[in-house]
Amino acid sequence: MKTNRRGFLKGALLTLASIPVIESLLGNKAEAAEVDKTKGMAKTLGYVSNGATECAGGKCGPKYKAEAQCCSCSFYTKVDGTWGNCSLVKPGNVAATGWCKNYAKKASVTKCS
Ligand code: SF4
Repeated sequence: MKTNRRGFLKGALLTLASIPVIESLLGNKAEAAEVDKTKGMAKTLGYVSNGATECAGGKCGPKYKAEAQCCSCSFYTKVDGTWGNCSLVKPGNVAATGWCKNYAKKASVTKCS
């Protein structure tokens, strides 16, 4: 009986110790879920993760403006400081610094934060 209790406590402690590891694995998976640029609307609209660097020198065509980025777009909903969801380009997250040909500036946003 004493051995069973000891075994139970040992198992419970091991289970509790593994929770942070499981949480970090799940958290990393969620962070990596950017939209697939080679498919769907992301491809059609020419989504890029960082407009400032990937569109420099006119590489994204005349529609791209230097101040345009996903975080100030009317289709963007912030997830955190780095990622958000786009109601057009999905499934997955778009980068706050991203851009696509359908960019539409939010009237209320003056600066992304
Ligand atoms: S529609 Fe707006 S939020 Fe969506 S990918 Fe294009 S620029 Fe980013």
